[in-house]
Amino acid sequence: MELQKPTHVVLLSSPGLGHLIPVIELAKHLVLHHNLKATVLAVTSQTSLAEKQILNSSLIPSICHIIDIPSPDITNLVHKNDSVFTRLCVLMREAKPAIKSILSKTTPLPSALIVDPFGHESITLGRELNILTYTFVATHAWALALVVYSPVLDEQIEGEYVHQKEPLQIPGCSPLRPEDVFDPMLNRKDRQYEEYLKMAKGIPQSDAVLVNTWEELQHKSLESLREGGLISEALNMKIPVYAVGPLVREPELETSESTRSLLTWLDEQPSESVVYVSFGSGGTLSREQMRELAWGLELSERRFVWVVREPVDKIVDAAFFTTGNNEGDAVAKYLPEGFVSRTRGLGLLVQEWAQQMNILRHGSIGGFVSHCGWGSTLESVTNGVPLAAWPLYAEQRMNATLLAEELGLAVRPIELSTKKVVRREEIARMVKEVIPGDESGKPNRVRERVKEMQQSALNALSEGGSSYAALSQVAKTIVE
Ligand code: UDP
Repeated sequence: MELQKPTHVVLLSSPGLGHLIPVIELAKHLVLHHNLKATVLAVTSQTSLAEKQILNSSLIPSICHIIDIPSPDITNLVHKNDSVFTRLCVLMREAKPAIKSILSKTTPLPSALIVDPFGHESITLGRELNILTYTFVATHAWALALVVYSPVLDEQIEGEYVHQKEPLQIPGCSPLRPEDVFDPMLNRKDRQYEEYLKMAKGIPQSDAVLVNTWEELQHKSLESLREGGLISEALNMKIPVYAVGPLVREPELETSESTRSLLTWLDEQPSESVVYVSFGSGGTLSREQMRELAWGLELSERRFVWVVREPVDKIVDAAFFTTGNNEGDAVAKYLPEGFVSRTRGLGLLVQEWAQQMNILRHGSIGGFVSHCGWGSTLESVTNGVPLAAWPLYAEQRMNATLLAEELGLAVRPIELSTKKVVRREEIARMVKEVIPGDESGKPNRVRERVKEMQQSALNALSEGGSSYAALSQVAKTIVE
């Protein structure tokens, strides 16, 4: 008897670790739990060491095939001041011919194409080739709601969003403070706003949307997006919305020597006593902010692991296309004098890039000072680690508000805004709030809440859970 070949799905990822990692995770889930065959088309930056390492991970070939599409040259199409968001949109548009060529040469044609939001223009490719086309949104449902509803806000609201006196109303969802809008909404005259609106109008053109969240975490926003819900009615958007998360990586099996010695150090620390500090794949701090953070960690008297990156003044996502490239100990010179020797034994610095999942999984980690990228957020919650929210760019201010004010999974500095420097006292306060220490004697509500959500996430992903069922439904539709 001839065995039936598994149905083939192609997933498209835009450059950036926060995009590539969840797309690979989705591919793995489709293959390992839902019997599909998956190919990932990764448009890569070619300039990030961490990206290369992930693409070359020895585990990947046995699960899914990855085709690396080098980023097209866009130097003549962008201005030097154009944002990362604009660059990504232009890159993905220019990569379309290469994507089309690969797709149309695939025989038989894949049964479905799954794109990330920056790949929205490739939805029409799916249409041309007559294959089902889905958008996979690696962030959460409230953010998705804001994006797709933005064309309506664009018509309703005059002037800049950040200058509004009242919160922005997103039907069926929590209102959004004007200062928490996505970066591309901060200046309506900037080119990235135009690109953002194109993305907002593009996503609902797919046959369905998959979101990296779960029903029990964000039921309200998901309901509004679904057929019959307030957003879907307002936009006449009649496509299924599946909550399939949290899709997060397993810790890496191959660890570097520095990770191994870091884990050995963690083994020697008391349970839940160490704060992990990292600003994702692209986040950078100013010189002044970096020094304040160093002083703040010292002042907190808590143990720490800090992923340090060379400071860059005025830009908060400067490492986006170059993650993991900085070798050596170049950053020590930006830290306060004597910091390294004073904190010896109390904290460790990791240069540029850490094997984050291996660290977060360790029982000695008790808190995560994070930029609140959704990937890092999910990795923290699924490891039962409470967050101290320090948003920098993209949709991270919205994420921080969601985590701190709605879900109770994070504490947040009081004085943070995009322009201000968070002072050392505030940093120390925040760190001590996630890791109160034995002397406090108070219950740690944030930690308790994170542990509840950790269990809820596990349930959602288990067979019979909401996300498992949603992804089964997606796979079933593709196979049929
Ligand atoms: N990451 C990592 N090591 C680092 C920094 C980031 O492994 O030193 C990973 C992190 O685990 C996550 C991804 O990079 O999976 C970053 O995605 P996220 O959505 O948190 O933020 P972004 O980098 O897109 O802002």
